[in-house]
Amino acid sequence: MQLHLQTWPEVEAYLQRSHGIILPIGSTEQHGPVGVIGTDAICAEVIARGVGEAAPALVGPTIGVGMAQHHLGFAGSITLRPSTLIAVLRDMVESLAGHGFENFYFINGHGGNIATVTAAFSEIYATRSLSPAGSVAPVKCRLRNWWQGEGVGRIAKELYGDAEGSHATPSEVAVTQFAYPEAIKSAPLDPVIAPRGDFSDAADYRRNFPDGRIGSNSALATPEAGKRLYDAAVAALTKDYLGWVGG
Ligand SMILES: [Zn+2]
Repeated sequence: MQLHLQTWPEVEAYLQRSHGIILPIGSTEQHGPVGVIGTDAICAEVIARGVGEAAPALVGPTIGVGMAQHHLGFAGSITLRPSTLIAVLRDMVESLAGHGFENFYFINGHGGNIATVTAAFSEIYATRSLSPAGSVAPVKCRLRNWWQGEGVGRIAKELYGDAEGSHATPSEVAVTQFAYPEAIKSAPLDPVIAPRGDFSDAADYRRNFPDGRIGSNSALATPEAGKRLYDAAVAALTKDYLGWVGG
């Protein structure tokens, strides 16, 4: 159930039975020569919609641009500053909290978002803690990274071992190939498995990881693997969401 395909009376009726909403959050950033720019947003969106159907639960608009400053050395990447992303998340949550939503379940597609999203939760909670009791609508937020869902990591390990790496992973590329088979890319990768290491700003990242990948061989991705990963992520996150909202 997607929020943007409902009417306001339908949302009011939904709020009679549930106060939970799922919010996909991703990023618009390079994913090496094989992975598409929207990889993180696509993974978060399709998995969130799958959870929304299985639960069932309302799924809000995808937050498709995240905190990706370190990817700006590559064409097409877009970032929000951490402070901007915090402001966006606060405004979205407060808008929906005013209507009676209380449980905000973020399904995340980008590791670079985690620190900022967690800080946004603290801002949202601080507003409540600093306000007189009962004057602000109650809110609980949870962040879940789709690739850490129960069983998802095991499939990635089985399929890809150490070639999974940590950016432009064959797992995330596979999920995009399952979602958009018409956009499957191929390109020579040299070296086949990308280097590992750390980074600071965009120039440092590009120096350390010249083609954009970190530790991965994205060319191992297949849409069939994407379907397996998708199914496992939807099952794990649906269970987690229902346990949280119900409890
Ligand atoms: Zn990614």
